[in-house]
Amino acid sequence: MKRTQDSDPEPAPKRPPGGPDLPAAIEPGTYDGVVVKSTGSHYEVQVGTTVVLARMRGKFRLSRQGETNPVAVGDRVSVLVDRDSATVESIAPRTNQLSRRAAGRRVGMEQILVANVDFAWVVQSTFLPRFNPGFVDRFLVMAQHEDIPAGIVINKADLITGTTSDDIDFWRKLYESLGYPVIYTSAVSGAGEARLRDLLIDKTTVFSGPSGVGKSSLINRMDSSLDVRTGDVSTKTRKGRHVTTNATLYTLSIGGRIVDTPGLREFGVIDIKAAELGHYFVEFRPFLHQCRYPNCTHDHEPDCAVVDAMERGEIPDGRWASYLNILASIQQGEADVGR
Ligand code: GDP
Ligand code: ZN
Repeated sequence: MKRTQDSDPEPAPKRPPGGPDLPAAIEPGTYDGVVVKSTGSHYEVQVGTTVVLARMRGKFRLSRQGETNPVAVGDRVSVLVDRDSATVESIAPRTNQLSRRAAGRRVGMEQILVANVDFAWVVQSTFLPRFNPGFVDRFLVMAQHEDIPAGIVINKADLITGTTSDDIDFWRKLYESLGYPVIYTSAVSGAGEARLRDLLIDKTTVFSGPSGVGKSSLINRMDSSLDVRTGDVSTKTRKGRHVTTNATLYTLSIGGRIVDTPGLREFGVIDIKAAELGHYFVEFRPFLHQCRYPNCTHDHEPDCAVVDAMERGEIPDGRWASYLNILASIQQGEADVGR
């Protein structure tokens, strides 16, 4: 496997991200822990400095309606450890959960990527792959929906040249004008690394983005004792029975936790009604109550304050276009289930 982090002359001993110990590694008993990884039928639960492999109790297997996963990475759970097995007994109420509309086999269901998040970064790259505002806007909608503070990391800053810098900087200015922090980083040069690392301390932070933008490389740079697999997209997204979009939680030696959600080809919104979508576009908010119709979808309706604001240049037209795209996908979804 190709590694991108080989700049350390004397690397600290690598710890496997989720190397589970047998339950026997700790005394039998009931413990509080945090789910660091889910494989579908098993959970890796961190209890102190030990990771135990636990099954879930039968009752949780019946997931809440429409959710693909009843226990999510980041969940605080209680585990019962026996001599040769461990079981997730209960899940503490979540402060929030970042979800997306599941893709593939379970399309249309809610996939909880991570629970109990303090900050969510959507990671994009300048090139290879190109900055994808549609992905960013959907992500921000879902974060806003759960009141999770969010920002944008634009990685591969080293690939910006004189002729391309204005194109990329357009996005930085746009999202900063909406109040989202934007950080340029490079996992190659180390640019932006210190600023990003400072923002992780003592928080549970999630990094989400399409495959290949450099999330794993960046996470490795955040903590030299981590050893997240990086490399070619094709080596990481082998198709098979296991979904490769499972998140993994890493504990940082600087304090805090980071959750990697690898390989998201798309970020579909879920659990949002057409009529409430405008609320999650923060810059629409001041205008929402000025539309002629209270149930205005800011699409075709007359006397729409959002469209008026866009025409006056007070709402970026690209964001309105993005809003309409998401609106259409919600309306399509609502039609699919006959609402
Ligand atoms: P992930 O799929 O988002 O986890 O991306 P990886 O960390 O596996 O990186 C994907 C590819 O991009 C690898 O070939 C990395 O070496 C490369 N890469 C990651 N970060 C950077 C960066 O900042 N600049 C450049 N030029 N390449 C990068
Ligand atoms: Zn309107």
